[in-house]
Amino acid sequence: MAKSTGKEKVKAMRYLFLLNPVAGVGARRDFLQMIAVACREKKVVYKILFTRAPGDAKKIIQKRSDKYDVFVAVGGDGTMNEVASVLAGTTAIMGLIPAGSGNALGRELGISMKPQKAVEQLLNGHVMQIDTGMINGRRFMNVCGLGFDNHIARVFSKATNRGPIPYFKAVLKEFFGYVSETYVVESNGETVNYTSFVLTVANTSQYGNNAFIAPKASVTDGDLDFIALKPFGFFGALELGRRLFNKTIDRSRYSTYFKTQKIRIDGKNLNFHVDGEPVKNSEPLEISIDPLSLNMIVP
Ligand SMILES: [Mg+2]
Repeated sequence: MAKSTGKEKVKAMRYLFLLNPVAGVGARRDFLQMIAVACREKKVVYKILFTRAPGDAKKIIQKRSDKYDVFVAVGGDGTMNEVASVLAGTTAIMGLIPAGSGNALGRELGISMKPQKAVEQLLNGHVMQIDTGMINGRRFMNVCGLGFDNHIARVFSKATNRGPIPYFKAVLKEFFGYVSETYVVESNGETVNYTSFVLTVANTSQYGNNAFIAPKASVTDGDLDFIALKPFGFFGALELGRRLFNKTIDRSRYSTYFKTQKIRIDGKNLNFHVDGEPVKNSEPLEISIDPLSLNMIVP
């Protein structure tokens, strides 16, 4: 497919839905039925398969890559990341029915958080090419990061209770005990040391839940947005909390913000997260953009 940011109307497509049964897909039977009814009404070829373990989506897609045109991730950021990582760089098309706790990519692309509406949007949508990011050989569609970001991803991945409220509780609980670390960042021809509470490299403008960590980010501009937050106290936290949700965090005196295509990060603690999934790591991080590498269905 030609590289362009223009939208193309979706023609007769064959849809394979990949559903993660552990994501917050509420009443699952109703959900399956809703997908089936919508697809039958639209008279499209479709199938619904379950992913039961990490790696399942990859196996399923690779086995059926010539039988379907659109591979739809139904679930949270984990399912989204897995499906997108298989499809990026290919001519296959990805669909997304957000059903997780953050849903940054879905929100960024204007996909409804209501499953029924999201299915409608999918079956009547357009194809658009978006950028994806790479961090040490792994792909991210939303954000990757180090520091408190990663610490929370780690704590939250062990939590049994998911959703925005348990997430914010975890953030508050961990916040006061966390010690900022120093990182060496090479980018745009400069090497700078940052002592940071959080260091994030973003493709989407938000973490999810409309928390805008990189308000100037665009998934089609061919750039990654870098943000580092200096350590801050109680009043700094209030300011940053407000700025995170009103899209002005880049203007805080605690933040350093710039756009880049390539970035190298070294430091003592190099554990990171990709789209919220924690990764243990001790190698320097090589982060780069892969422009317009993923075909996505958008409303
Ligand atoms: Mg960008």
